[in-house]
Amino acid sequence: MKAVVVGAGVIGAACARALAQAGIAVTVLERGAAASGTSAACEGNLLVSDKSPGPELELALFSTRRWGVVAAELADELGAGFPSIEYDRKGGLVVCCAAAGATALQDLGNRQRACGVLVERLHPAEARVLEPDLTGDVVAAAYYPQDAQLQPTAATEALLASARRAGAQVFTGEEVIGPRRRADGTLCGVATRSGGYDADIVVNCAGPWAGAVATSLGVELPVLPRRGMILVTTRMPPRIRHKVYGDDYVNATQSADAMLQTSTVVESTAAGTVLIGSSRERVGLDPRTDMAVAAQIARKAVALFPFLAETTVLRSYAGFRPYMPDHLPVIGPDPRLPGLYHVAGHEGAGIGLSIASADLLLAQVTGSSMPYDGTPFAVDRPSLAIHLQRAA
Ligand SMILES: Cc1cc2nc3c(=O)[nH]c(=O)nc-3n(C[C@H](O)[C@H](O)[C@H](O)COP(=O)(O)OP(=O)(O)OC[C@H]3O[C@@H](n4cnc5c(N)ncnc54)[C@H](O)[C@@H]3O)c2cc1C
Repeated sequence: MKAVVVGAGVIGAACARALAQAGIAVTVLERGAAASGTSAACEGNLLVSDKSPGPELELALFSTRRWGVVAAELADELGAGFPSIEYDRKGGLVVCCAAAGATALQDLGNRQRACGVLVERLHPAEARVLEPDLTGDVVAAAYYPQDAQLQPTAATEALLASARRAGAQVFTGEEVIGPRRRADGTLCGVATRSGGYDADIVVNCAGPWAGAVATSLGVELPVLPRRGMILVTTRMPPRIRHKVYGDDYVNATQSADAMLQTSTVVESTAAGTVLIGSSRERVGLDPRTDMAVAAQIARKAVALFPFLAETTVLRSYAGFRPYMPDHLPVIGPDPRLPGLYHVAGHEGAGIGLSIASADLLLAQVTGSSMPYDGTPFAVDRPSLAIHLQRAA
């Protein structure tokens, strides 16, 4: 079987690796450079803590287990000469500074625990043992030992390198512009600016551009860009030990609001910088960063970690989360165009969910047993029906 994977972000890389390792002849087509889209303009958190009970949490729990295995496999396969993906199961700390949020935080923790999430309710003093520089204003906290972190660009590159070792070919500077069809109209590959590629299956992993790629192939997919901004400090000795975020972050991830929202997410990196996020706003594909948004993000972060007021922000960047109207990714075959699969729309969790998404795709393509229930992620699920008007 021949597969074309469109897009060399973390999702395309994970899918290419899974398919190639199963013996499928994989060609990855990326219009820019590898890992040049959202996977290079995000943070690398692998979180279960921010997911409410439901299909996304199940996907996250599965993926977080799988990332532990895959991180070790990549290290073994690629050797010490390859840049580390900086996988670190450092744990997540969610804090709340207003009494009103404490009950909601506890309630979420209880419901997550019933689904298999490890969560410990902490007294504010216990939270400050974990994070000594935390503000004294914390009134409630929860610790999530399953939360992890990695370096997303390095992880994407490592997954691609592993896919290549399994036989995948990766072509950059190759933009997919339409389908290749047989005389009877069925899909048999893609057309690119420089020609085209034959394939039995085409996997749309174009992240925030997955809607545009779908349209070019003849079907609608309601993926929208949701811009997010991050601030990066200069390097410093480690003072933030976990992934730390305010309880407002969970609401922001689940919100469908197109207007600007900021919530506090802070973590240090292996390089010694601190990443401070983040914002969410639907402003199309406008890549500009905004000083007013940066100031709002910074103010909230300083409220959580007062010492950050004394640090220098070295740079800021913005990326586009691939937003879906029902907040679930699409993973699977498109019934409107046999041979087309989508693995897209992971919004703010695509790094974390990449491995589980690739595992499900592989099972669907090869007809092997499903690693988990894929029904909630199907293209033809009821919650997407009104968005999927155009048939191939
Ligand atoms: C500020 C911010 C913070 C985030 N933090 C986290 C986090 O902590 N944890 C987490 O799990 N997720 C996080 N995310 C979300 C995560 O970054 C995305 O879900 C993930 O990177 C999506 O990966 P992807 O491979 O689908 O998309 P991308 O990385 O964007 O890859 C898609 C690729 O397709 C290519 N492409 C597009 N059109 C074509 C075409 N016609 N032909 C060929 N190639 C094409 C693009 O060039 C691009 O390289 C964050 C996102 C943002 C914006």
